Amino acid sequence: MNKCPYCGTSYNEILQTGFVGCSRCYSEIEALKEAVKEMHKNKTYRGRKPKSGNV
Ligand SMILES: [Zn+2]
Repeated sequence: MNKCPYCGTSYNEILQTGFVGCSRCYSEIEALKEAVKEMHKNKTYRGRKPKSGNV
């Protein structure tokens, strides 16, 4: 499914605005689910945390 049945937001709309319509979008829109998975993969892969504290 490319559109969230709960809020009616489509994957394209999310791409354009950068915002999901509701928290269900993540589990209802297949393409978004994949995109989020990729994002997490990249984050985990880098593994480095930016130093913050002594600025
Ligand atoms: Zn939604």
